[in-house]
Amino acid sequence: MKGITVLGSTGSIGVSTLDVIARHPGRYRVVALSANTQVERMTAQCLATRPEFAVMVDEDAAAQLAERLRGPAPEVQVLAGLAGLERVASLPQTDHVMAAIVGAAGLKPTLAAARAGKRVLLANKEALVMSGRLFMDEVRRSGAELLPIDSEHNAVFQCMPPDFGRGLAEVGVRRILLTASGGPFRDAPLAALADVTPEQAVAHPNWSMGRKISVDSATMMNKGLEVIEACWLFDTDPAHIQVVLHPQSVVHSMVEYVDGSVLAQLGNPDMRTPIAHALAWPERIASGVASLDFFALSHLDFRAPDLARFPCLRLAVAAMEAGGTAPAVLNAANEIAVDAFLNGRVRFTDIPAIIEASLAAVARSEADTLEQILAADVAARDAAVRLVEKASR
Ligand code: NAD
Ligand code: MG
Repeated sequence: MKGITVLGSTGSIGVSTLDVIARHPGRYRVVALSANTQVERMTAQCLATRPEFAVMVDEDAAAQLAERLRGPAPEVQVLAGLAGLERVASLPQTDHVMAAIVGAAGLKPTLAAARAGKRVLLANKEALVMSGRLFMDEVRRSGAELLPIDSEHNAVFQCMPPDFGRGLAEVGVRRILLTASGGPFRDAPLAALADVTPEQAVAHPNWSMGRKISVDSATMMNKGLEVIEACWLFDTDPAHIQVVLHPQSVVHSMVEYVDGSVLAQLGNPDMRTPIAHALAWPERIASGVASLDFFALSHLDFRAPDLARFPCLRLAVAAMEAGGTAPAVLNAANEIAVDAFLNGRVRFTDIPAIIEASLAAVARSEADTLEQILAADVAARDAAVRLVEKASR
């Protein structure tokens, strides 16, 4: 039996993870669950999975959860705050940690899981974007296993030779082809983008996801963050990663070898496939995902991304090339700008402008320590908040 901690269990990835786990009761045991504020859903998850620990980051929410579980599930220990997250990420009885908190809030607990040498199932791409080198060093030092949950990176992992850690050139890989759906606005008239609403932006054509990543998909910042994520996971640089627009989201990504072979991973767009893959690797388990119906797929399209339409993709690649704290600044400014857009304070087209101005406003430093990374995160949030105020006036 593998013990599992699910960080961010009430979110889209968290719910899909519990769905896969519930299909294999003899194989996995839920040790801990965590959420920010959603007491209702957490109560139901605790009653269904009977974890040892449940963490609510919000103190009031933790008190409410403890109250609700007192009668029906008194054995569940309710913890509060960030300290609780770090604790359940590194428990000795936990083997696998699903890192599915959204945004920079996931950095410390995800890092704690890596330090504790767990199998880290990484959905929280923002943590790796912020702390790339530090995070990968911790993984190597502790002997943690890092398995990507992001569908593209999970696909790339599946198409890589097992010894890709020796270096991509060493193992004959020429480049990574990262597919992108292009989101809901890939074909919208450019002039219409300034007036799109949050509801239109979160309505992703192929995937059902949390609100923040849905907006990231609409701006293609998601693909930008994923280029950075791929650089760290596969020890490469943006010059060896080609983003390929593929509206159907059936080819989840590809690896091209020096002999001209291209290996792809295909499947229905359902996150339970990469979750099941990473949970059971190197074995395979059922995920509940239906077979891909090749006769219903009339065609698969591929085209180059349009950088004029998607400035966020360009900004992310430039931040990775600049290095140091630039990706952390990019990420923090994006979180502030997306939140402001979702709250109706700025326009969709203000998002890249706020990020670009934040990158210009915050001096780049090395990103060797957590302190340097967190200082950049705070400075970028301050800059972005000021820019949001200016844009919303
Ligand atoms: P979501 O918004 O649906 O869920 C987020 C989870 O994080 C919730 O459980 C919430 O309680 C928790 N959370 C939010 N703020 C928190 C905070 N400040 N402190 C602690 N916990 C907090 O998000 P999601 O769509 O499940 O995405 C989670 C992560 O997975 C993101 O990093 C996203 O980029 C990545 N990801 C998601 C998908 C997808 O299909 N949803 C695909 C690839 C990668
Ligand atoms: Mg993805």
